[in-house]
Order: sequence, then C-alpha cells, then structure tokens
Amino acid sequence: MKMKRFVSIALCALMLLPILAGCGAKTEPTVATAAPAATEAATTAPAVETEAPVALAEDVQKIVDRGVLRVGVKNAVLGFGFQDELTGEYSGMEISLAEKIAEYLGVDVEFTAVTAATRTELLDSGDIDCVLATFTITEERKKSWDFTTAYYTDYVTVLVEDASGIKTLADLADKKVGVSSGSTSAKALVKAMIEAGVLSGDGFDADTFDPATWTDGVSFAQYDDYPTISTALSAGEVDAFCVDKSILAVYHTDGRSYIDDKFSPQEYGIATVKGSGMSELCETLVTGWLADGTIDALIAENGIA
Ligand code: GLU
Repeated sequence: MKMKRFVSIALCALMLLPILAGCGAKTEPTVATAAPAATEAATTAPAVETEAPVALAEDVQKIVDRGVLRVGVKNAVLGFGFQDELTGEYSGMEISLAEKIAEYLGVDVEFTAVTAATRTELLDSGDIDCVLATFTITEERKKSWDFTTAYYTDYVTVLVEDASGIKTLADLADKKVGVSSGSTSAKALVKAMIEAGVLSGDGFDADTFDPATWTDGVSFAQYDDYPTISTALSAGEVDAFCVDKSILAVYHTDGRSYIDDKFSPQEYGIATVKGSGMSELCETLVTGWLADGTIDALIAENGIA
C-alpha cells in the first residue's frame, strides 16, 4: 500500500503543475487505489519513457523514507487540535487534515503540541514538517513561511470576567489585556479599537506595532500559553483575554463572557518551509479538499461551522 501511494505520488510529480493539481484534487482515497491506472499512464506517457526516474521533492522524499510525518498542532483548541488528557488521543479538524496528508504519503503521523510562540521555531529547525495550529495567514508571515489556501476562517474576540462589567471595545479603554506571544491578537485588537473610534490611532503603524511597548489607551501582557492567560484573568492580573474565538471557547467558563464585538478575520492555513516540496503538496491537497467537500465535512463533524 505504501509503495502504491509512493508510485502514484512519484507519477504526479512527473507531470506538469495542472496535472499535479488534478492528481491531488482526487484526494487520498483515489490515490490509494489508483496505482494500476497510474502505472498504465506511466507506460504511455512519453515523459516517463524518455526521462530518468524523477524523485519526489527532496523534503517530501525524506518524510516518506522516515515513514513519519511530523506535524505541529494545538492541544487545547476544541474542534481544531485537542488532546484528551487521559488517553493522550488528539482530535479536531486540524488533526484529521494532518492524518489525511500522512495517509496520502503512506506514512504514520506524529503530533507535537505547539503554541503561537513555538510553532515557527520548530518548523525552522526541522523538528516538524508542517504546522496545522490555528495559524493565521498574514502578509508578514508569508515572507518567512509558505501557507496553503485557507481551510477555515475565524475571528478575534475578547473574553472577560462578568464581574468586570466590560462588554464592548469601548469598555476596554485603559485596560490591560492578556495575549499570547507570537500571535496576531494585540494588533488586531488595537486596530479594531481604532476603527471603533475608541482609540485615536495616532502612533499606530501596523508594520512596526509591538504589543510590549504599546500603551496608548490599552496595554498588553504577553504569555507563552493560553492556560496561563486564563489563570491571569481569574487572578485579576489582566482585565481581558484576547485571541481567536475558537481558542477562547475552552476558557469560556461560568462567570465569563465574550464582549459584543468580534473582528479581524483569521484565515488558517497550513504553514510549511518556504519553497519546499511540502508547500506544493499541502497546497494541492488543501485546494482539492476544499473543492470536493472534504473540508466542509470536517468543519461540520467537528461542530465548528
Ligand atoms: N490565530 C492567531 C495567530 O495565528 C492566534 C494565535 C494562535 O493561533 O495561537 O496569531
């Protein structure tokens, strides 16, 4: 089975990009059973007769040889990447997508729990092959990593203790907000407060914005992970907790509420090393799964519509 997939992927790699896209778009069940047809194609395609055997992109071949796809995922985001503390089992849409990529390659999958602060270091160091971890596609990030077409769009919002009386963006004026290091959240909140007329916007530059030094009308405390922000919120160390709504869901316990506003669409993509074979493979698979309804089905199955 592993070999069949390998052969059919190698054949895909032989062909030109539109054909590669078509091959990926068929998704893994087709790929898993397509070896005879692909072999036929190989004997008739002139490219195969005249060219030396073409290998997979080096980085993808390495994964196939290793027999394991290493994926960075979240472990506390319900419906996306969530690890059951008792069984250790991971579940969620991003987990299923990672499993499907591994299945396509005919390899096992190994999950590494990442945070907004650690996911890019682990990708850069080669500890993981790709990141499926509520990772928002931004122009700035695209300079350093490749992202697939978005497979999900979320929004940013703010969680508060009911006792605080904070209900709107305006109520956040002069408050201290807990955010994760390495996240889009602080910039998204300041932008939303400017757009709502709560902040003047003087001195705001999206390119140089730094949550650590911003103190104009709202300030930020940065943390390495979300449980710590939740604890800081209970302890009154921060007045509010700001991040994507999907991430906040698990901390939305009794006595806590979201403010009325949600803002700054967050498009999640699979991040890979820039210019790598994995980038091309993941893009082909994601666009195929968007087109054939696989991703819609995963969104519905995980209750995150
Ligand atoms: N999705 C946002 C980001 O990529 C929030 C942080 C997170 O994913 O943990 O910055």
